[in-house]
Amino acid sequence: MQSSMFNVRAPIDGNGDVFLMNTFTDAQIVVSPDVIDFLDRIDRMSAPLTDEERCTLELLAEHGFVVNSRQSERLALEEYFREVREGADTVKVTVLTTLQCNFACGYCIQGDHGDYNKHAAKMSLETAARVAGWTEGRLDALKPSRLILTFFGGEPLLNLPVVYLLAERLHASCAERGIQLSISIITNGLLLTREVVERLNPLGLSGIKITLDGDRDTHNRMRPLRGGQGTFDKIIANVQQVASLAKISIGGNFDVETVDSYPALLDFLSEQDFADKLGRVTFKPVIRETQISGKGIIPLTAVGSEGKPLNGACMTSAGTGVSSACDACSVVDEKMAFLREETKKHGFNTVDGVHMGPCEIHRSHAHTIGPDGSLYACPGFAGEARQSIGHIDGREDAFRTQALRNFERLSAWKMCQDCAFIPVCAGGCTVAAHNELGDMHAPNCHKTSFEAGVLALARDAARTYAATA
Ligand code: SF4
Ligand code: SF4
Repeated sequence: MQSSMFNVRAPIDGNGDVFLMNTFTDAQIVVSPDVIDFLDRIDRMSAPLTDEERCTLELLAEHGFVVNSRQSERLALEEYFREVREGADTVKVTVLTTLQCNFACGYCIQGDHGDYNKHAAKMSLETAARVAGWTEGRLDALKPSRLILTFFGGEPLLNLPVVYLLAERLHASCAERGIQLSISIITNGLLLTREVVERLNPLGLSGIKITLDGDRDTHNRMRPLRGGQGTFDKIIANVQQVASLAKISIGGNFDVETVDSYPALLDFLSEQDFADKLGRVTFKPVIRETQISGKGIIPLTAVGSEGKPLNGACMTSAGTGVSSACDACSVVDEKMAFLREETKKHGFNTVDGVHMGPCEIHRSHAHTIGPDGSLYACPGFAGEARQSIGHIDGREDAFRTQALRNFERLSAWKMCQDCAFIPVCAGGCTVAAHNELGDMHAPNCHKTSFEAGVLALARDAARTYAATA
């Protein structure tokens, strides 16, 4: 027997106890230092165990803190990633209804800059009908219990006819097949109205994610309209209108210059009437493209994942923990941890910094569909036509076949050796690795962010323990 490679630990202030977690089994316990000592000696112990030690060993083994061998653990890890890849109980389809955007954010390549919107693709109703047919084909082939349909962009609400067509048709298709449909929208919030929510609610709307990039002044500077007008007040007014009708989550993209404005945003949100109706509040760094010229920064925002740790998309928690914002990654990791704690202090639900992945790029049945019907491995690659891995009409192009092969062999985590965070990180964000390291197959490591997450879990465990003692 030996100690699991996926054990992580953090001291609990005050009494010498230790928070112990296994990232593979997700077991979390608070133990005394002698249990830690026992765990550290376990693979060297030769004398027969006492009754007490045998009990401790059984408990630790039951929760995965002790395993038979490193080899069996590695085999279990391989099997886990195979299940993540092939699992078909949930099919996820993210549709980019348009690449057009009504904002002119300085950090985004999309948006209302120059004549971008004139040329940016927008899905036609004919293509939307074909997307619905293609999705129905996946449902018939895979027979999942759940379909998660996410509308993204650009700004998805600029193409409401496509949103309604897909939501209505797939609602009917899912009902016929006994499949649960969950619809999410990731929007800048400017066009979000009661009418939109009331029309989508009966079809399975489960969450709306809105981006606020800092406090009022910072957001207005970061996410203005083309003429420079601020958008904060209008978005907040829209949230007020719909907060009682739908679960609204808030996301934000920060960089080293804007991060300090987020506590003021949290103060503001916590004072609003709708504060107790908000779902998750999560902030994440923007990903800079440093290797590929001619591009800016991809603003990745999150989709509500209903508290499940392992069903991420970039836009989910996964991207938040593992993508980097700047050259000083440790600064970003520190800021991420700081913002998570601030968010919790303000009473909002947020990610814990540990349960961040594997994200959807590791799942074969999570699809991103561009406005022209092109298929992508994840939303973060949808801005790059050459990264398309297929098309809903089944056309065969050499570049797509090559991209598909390239994505199929993604396994950056295999280079992470015995890192304890592999089950929840999988080697980091592939988009960030591609853009910042120039190699999508390389790990994009933010281990310090995970370590900060473990410390925060330890503090939460200590608080829970103190409250129940
Ligand atoms: S690779 Fe990055 S951008 Fe893509 S789904 Fe994963 S975390 Fe998100
Ligand atoms: S990228 Fe870093 S934190 Fe993630 S699994 Fe690899 S070594 Fe661990």
